[in-house]
Amino acid sequence: MGAVGVLALQGSFNEHIAALRRLGVKGVEIRKPEQLENVSSLIIPGGESTTMAKLAEYHNLFPALREFVKMGKPVWGTCAGLIFLANKAVGQKEGGQELVGGLDCTIHRNFFGSQIYSFEAEVAAPELASKEGGPETFRAVFIRAPAVIEAGPGVEVLAEYPVPSNKVLYSSSSVRIQEENAAPEKKVIIAVKQKNLLGTAFHPELTADTRWHSYFLKMACETGEEASSSIVAVEGVDLRINHKQINELPVYQ
Ligand code: GLN
Repeated sequence: MGAVGVLALQGSFNEHIAALRRLGVKGVEIRKPEQLENVSSLIIPGGESTTMAKLAEYHNLFPALREFVKMGKPVWGTCAGLIFLANKAVGQKEGGQELVGGLDCTIHRNFFGSQIYSFEAEVAAPELASKEGGPETFRAVFIRAPAVIEAGPGVEVLAEYPVPSNKVLYSSSSVRIQEENAAPEKKVIIAVKQKNLLGTAFHPELTADTRWHSYFLKMACETGEEASSSIVAVEGVDLRINHKQINELPVYQ
């Protein structure tokens, strides 16, 4: 009981499990609805949200995932996982896809464009730095990244990214292309929190900085019904969360 689940249908679930392990916490792969009963929090990784949705549908996971969110259990969606958690997603090529929902946001699935517009940037996250310590900024890896284009009143913004004026970007559901002379100061939301839900448009599991994982684990301890002691430690590893680095998968330093 009390383990951290990682939805393991497709995408970067291994990297999330490795990041949790670096914090001394065991991540449990989730592929079937009944497996959700054995975990008290869940990470939905990045990947390809349409593919992940098809697999989730095939395994009849959507009702159990929605129930998990409704029960107030902590869920963190990264990238495609953020799309999963949104109440509304726009920017699909062919129709809509099934979503878990719960996060009062509208997400643009490919806000930053296609694969070739993938990039990395140093981004400020004051709330992360105040809770976890360390630098004011973190390294954000954006891979065909989505962004939050509308957030409800109950949604806390944890990080924003200044949209460069010379970049071609999709800024709304109607896929309006911003021209070079667009307002240079526009910022787009890339990390949010709403009660038990955390959403990030980037991939913290691909960097050596474990602060976002640690932040989620603390959220899980605060929001979850279980106390922190219920988080299952990797055998032989000190349960206390720290930022020591055990890199068994390649990560950006
Ligand atoms: N934009 C992608 C999608 O629609 C998500 C990309 C990612 O998770 N790295 O699924």
